[in-house]
Amino acid sequence: MSSLREWLLCPECGRELEADGGVLLCSSGHRFEVGRRGYAALVGGRSSLVRSDPASVLDDIDRRWAGERLSRVVDAVVAELPAGRELRLLDCGGDLGHLLAAGRAARGSLDAVYVSASPSAIVRAMKRSGAAGLLADPAREWPVRDGAADVVLCAFAEHRPAEFHRVLTPGGVVVFVAAEADVAALDDDVYPWFEHDQTRTVPAAEGVVSVVRYRRRRRPLSW
Ligand SMILES: [Zn+2]
Repeated sequence: MSSLREWLLCPECGRELEADGGVLLCSSGHRFEVGRRGYAALVGGRSSLVRSDPASVLDDIDRRWAGERLSRVVDAVVAELPAGRELRLLDCGGDLGHLLAAGRAARGSLDAVYVSASPSAIVRAMKRSGAAGLLADPAREWPVRDGAADVVLCAFAEHRPAEFHRVLTPGGVVVFVAAEADVAALDDDVYPWFEHDQTRTVPAAEGVVSVVRYRRRRRPLSW
């Protein structure tokens, strides 16, 4: 929880959050549960976009990441992590903590947060990786401080380049995992906020997967 406080702000008013037992409180009086599962549920009101995935869906994702192809992708992602101690990583879903677990194994320790709109996915990712969990509404800005992360991981997940830019520290990087066929469109989407740094490709019978690292631009380019 002490680490989570360094990352999070009130999703309603943007003020600091204080932990009080199983509750996160801001000075305006907004209250958020840290459920018995241990993740911070920073969702104000009801959102139809926030809901658990069925176990069968999560099992399919786990099976996919356990396969030979994606295990090589995991290695490529770890190889793209910048040097430095105690990296702060934000994983925005798509995997279920596989990347953060591998990063932690390679680095010894990481300050990691897994953010998702799916409580069941968060619980699995936390269990696998030891990361902190954040439940957030994907239709709004994440309740994450500006510049809180050194690295954003986005593996087959929705990319939000403006949000990635905002939550990354100057000099931060985002590492994408995507089908090679999708990389040109990804390049175009992130171009105003990020400049291409490195690409690694992992070939496999069912298609090539690209691991692409981009550096945060100091200022987003205007259109
Ligand atoms: Zn508040």
